[in-house]
Amino acid sequence: MLKPTSSGSGSIDSHTPKGSLENRWTQHKFDMKIVSPANRKKYNIIVVGTGLAGASAAASLGEMGYNVKTFCFQDSPRRAHSIAAQGGINAAKNYQNDGDSVWRLFYDTIKGGDYRARESNVFRLAELSTSIIDQAVAQGVPFAREYSGYLANRSFGGAQVSRTFYARGQTGQQLLIGAYQAMSKQIAEGTITHHSRCEMQDLILIDGKAKGIVSRDLVTGQLESHMADVVVLCTGGYGNVFYLSTNAKGCNASAVWRAHKQGALFANPCFTQIHPTCIPQHGELQSKLTLMSESLRNDGRIWAPKNKEDCDKKPEDIAEQDRDYFLERMYPAFGNLVPRDIASRAVKLICDEGRGVGHAIDGQKLGVYLDFAKAIEVHGLDAISEKYGNLFDMYTHIAAEDPYTTPMRIYPAVHYTMGGLWVDYNLMTSIDGLFAGGEANFSDHGANRLGASALMQGLADGYFILPSTVSNYLAQQKPLDITKTYPEAEQTLQACKEKIQQLMNAPDPQKTPDEFHRKLGRIIWQACGMAREKSVLEKAIVDINSLRDQFWQQVKITGSDETLNQTLERAGRIADFFELAELMCIDALTREESCGCHAREEHITNDGEAQRHDEDFSYIAAWQYSGNLSMPVLYREELDFEFVRPTTRNYR
Ligand SMILES: Cc1cc2nc3c(=O)[nH]c(=O)nc-3n(C[C@H](O)[C@H](O)[C@H](O)COP(=O)(O)OP(=O)(O)OC[C@H]3O[C@@H](n4cnc5c(N)ncnc54)[C@H](O)[C@@H]3O)c2cc1C
Repeated sequence: MLKPTSSGSGSIDSHTPKGSLENRWTQHKFDMKIVSPANRKKYNIIVVGTGLAGASAAASLGEMGYNVKTFCFQDSPRRAHSIAAQGGINAAKNYQNDGDSVWRLFYDTIKGGDYRARESNVFRLAELSTSIIDQAVAQGVPFAREYSGYLANRSFGGAQVSRTFYARGQTGQQLLIGAYQAMSKQIAEGTITHHSRCEMQDLILIDGKAKGIVSRDLVTGQLESHMADVVVLCTGGYGNVFYLSTNAKGCNASAVWRAHKQGALFANPCFTQIHPTCIPQHGELQSKLTLMSESLRNDGRIWAPKNKEDCDKKPEDIAEQDRDYFLERMYPAFGNLVPRDIASRAVKLICDEGRGVGHAIDGQKLGVYLDFAKAIEVHGLDAISEKYGNLFDMYTHIAAEDPYTTPMRIYPAVHYTMGGLWVDYNLMTSIDGLFAGGEANFSDHGANRLGASALMQGLADGYFILPSTVSNYLAQQKPLDITKTYPEAEQTLQACKEKIQQLMNAPDPQKTPDEFHRKLGRIIWQACGMAREKSVLEKAIVDINSLRDQFWQQVKITGSDETLNQTLERAGRIADFFELAELMCIDALTREESCGCHAREEHITNDGEAQRHDEDFSYIAAWQYSGNLSMPVLYREELDFEFVRPTTRNYR
């Protein structure tokens, strides 16, 4: 699969089937092999991560009759970060009869990702979107309904149709209850053995194939090896590398990063989504940011004062003619519903001009208004409360202001990572037998994910793709005898033990892991956040290296490694963030263009839009660990656009 060239870079094969786009997945499913039901219980599958992607994959594989072991670091799969998803899930059902179709969802997603995703994968995603809704409804997920009884839809950014299914502001939670319920049925039937509070430490390879993991029991500290025929990683995204993000505090990159260091290629690491509507930071010591769902942009209007002198006034004291509804002005066709990367950059531009409002961070006011006055006037307070009540309550609790009477203040924040483990069309990584699903893989969203498309992708991977492709893989493998002892497992376990000891016994322990993480977050946000620039990225790489050296010298971990120790847990994750952060900067430096979220200051058009260079960069960048963190090897997967012609994205 990997074809390195003499120049230290190479190309990779995505194993995408040929034929007409509409039939590729159907034909591929027919061409793939199936394990006979009687033989399935001879195979063992490990699924790490039981958020939406992992729980749905495990439930489906368990239902098929395989022996599945699942792992999550929380005390229950119900606490996976997926629970935080507020706004909704896309599907091309066209219930609104407003012109939607699988082709339109496909087109919007490819365009939204700024032409940096694979056509075949994205078409499959759009095609499967409708089945996800059927599956969830059959499980009893309480999607919002119209008076008629049909499922309701709302609009999300980057689309001119309403295709987002939602359950108030708790879509992720309700979908997760559905997936967990399906998983629980399999636990009860004995096909799934679940391990909560158990963290994957490393991947076990035998003859280059993924054959197990080493886990750490987070309560007792015990390390253990688990063997299997296939390992599936559904361990979520790595937005927390930035320290401040809208992700749950526990989200981390360790599982995928350790798989990367064992040989799995890491794709597009610099593609990070910055979400435009988050509650602004209001203090240096803050450790978490909160999302205000994109669904709010259906009815809320974003504005900033036209004049800098008005920025300190109360919003209600700023006259209508002195307000700049800048998204409506700049992008009349999509208005407040432009994609996230475009909205985020516009908000940054306004604040950089000195027209921000609210608290100042490092001397700059970082906030604009999201205003519901007009929507309340037109639709009434009850209608707005019905749609967004829980989000308004959340805002009131955090910001101590009432969004029914005072506009919310918002600013962009790190939200989602489009980068992740490189996978082929079958969702298999470059390590034989290692699959990745959900946010953990580099996903189908190219350089920018459209709102409500992550849940769609995670569930397409888990319910529909992995069950077929993992079966196809297993049908070509002899089952591994998991009762035997394998030296590879023992060696991997020993290496994990040594790494933990190194963390516990830094030569000059002085600082908590969080102190290092906060500093790392600032470096990576400034260099590889909303705007990127060659000299800043180069300096960041030097700074990350020096801070990483300090970390290994000075990190202070109190307590023991043989009991619950959250400082140790955090330190292990931060150690991996340090390494990933460097790769993100290297990737951002190498991609000499702007596309989607990746805004290189040197490649911006005169009107402030991303300037792609398709002739040189129409590829997925997949990086291989070379043994030297600063010298990864780049593999390029060239992107072919047979059905959509890459053009300059225009939302004006
Ligand atoms: C605030 C917020 C709101 C969002 N709203 C929406 C929305 O409305 N619509 C939408 O489409 N998307 C939304 N997203 C994105 C979406 O929620 C996520 O991309 C998606 O839920 C990720 O699901 P996942 O299954 O891949 O990972 P997760 O839900 O993050 O699950 C990861 C799992 O991996 C486990 N894990 C991780 N590392 C290890 C390890 N080393 N060992 C063992 N277990 C491990 C965890 O315990 C967990 O079970 C939102 C994101 C945020 C931050």
